[in-house]
Amino acid sequence: STVRELIAAGERSFSFEFFPPKDAEGERQLWRTLRELEPLNPTFVSVTYGAGGSTRDRTVGITAQIAHDTSMTPLAHLTCVDHSVATLRSVIGSYAGAGVRNVLALRGDPAGGPRAPFEPHPEGLRYAVELVELTKSLGDFCVGVAAFPELHPSAESADADARVLAAKARAGADFAITQLFFRPDDYFRLVDRVSALGVDIPIIPGIMPITNLAQVTRMAELSGAALPDEVVERVARFEGDPAAVRAEGIRVATELCDTLLAGGAPGLHFYTLNRSKATREIFSGLRTAVG
Ligand code: FAD
Repeated sequence: STVRELIAAGERSFSFEFFPPKDAEGERQLWRTLRELEPLNPTFVSVTYGAGGSTRDRTVGITAQIAHDTSMTPLAHLTCVDHSVATLRSVIGSYAGAGVRNVLALRGDPAGGPRAPFEPHPEGLRYAVELVELTKSLGDFCVGVAAFPELHPSAESADADARVLAAKARAGADFAITQLFFRPDDYFRLVDRVSALGVDIPIIPGIMPITNLAQVTRMAELSGAALPDEVVERVARFEGDPAAVRAEGIRVATELCDTLLAGGAPGLHFYTLNRSKATREIFSGLRTAVG
């Protein structure tokens, strides 16, 4: 089934994101995690596309294996970075051939990070909206796109950023997943801006569980998201006691999830970093039933 069909079925969507591991031990870890999360019956599981297309074969391979060997529905990420249109077509063809019908169409980041100027491949695409159009033109794919509660790091303004998401929806995107964020109001304001433009695709909040401060600080830097002082303070007061830091981090994320669901979010997407424990703890602590 496609993510579109699963979301349309009415339940709140919940999903987990993974990255393609670099080595055999990472691969074993990923599959342990996938098997631990499978009984939760997620709406979909997604696999990222590494910087500059570096994980191409692994992203195709893992999503194919999820489609064939598990009961879960894979969502394969794809980025425009360093790929010609011919290469993008061929990757999308590999997804189709492997039985992967859901694609997250992204621009991707230049090697210098999300704020660096983006140089498209000479025969490639400049914006994610073009990849949405390309993917849709190549078959009956369900296509997701990225959304930014704190605005994309190089967005001109909140309204311009909302218009980008609206354009991706009008080009055929079926749903959006957000970058990680910590303030629920940032999410709700994004949803309001986009619906004011007459667009109503589901916008699924992306959640990063905090299990240690250094890791979340790094993830926030990489994504361009801000780590708010109130979150840092809540977690940092347990510095020196990793178990207490972790417990507070799980509480912070669980409260965020509950506020989002109570405010009408259509689901939750967890950035798992290929581990299941934190996500399972948040999941089982939610006040609102999902899935
Ligand atoms: P776009 O929608 O193209 O937007 C990029 C920038 O261009 C924005 O500033 C936007 O405002 C601007 N823009 C867009 N259209 C126009 C236009 N017509 N005119 C003027 N300006 C415009 N990266 C990876 O490398 N691999 C992954 O697997 C990956 N997965 C991700 C998953 C999620 C859920 C999210 C939120 C992000 C993910 N990213 C991933 C990061 C993403 O590639 C970067 O955030 C990238 O900088 C933006 O991608 P985009 O698809 O939003 O691009």
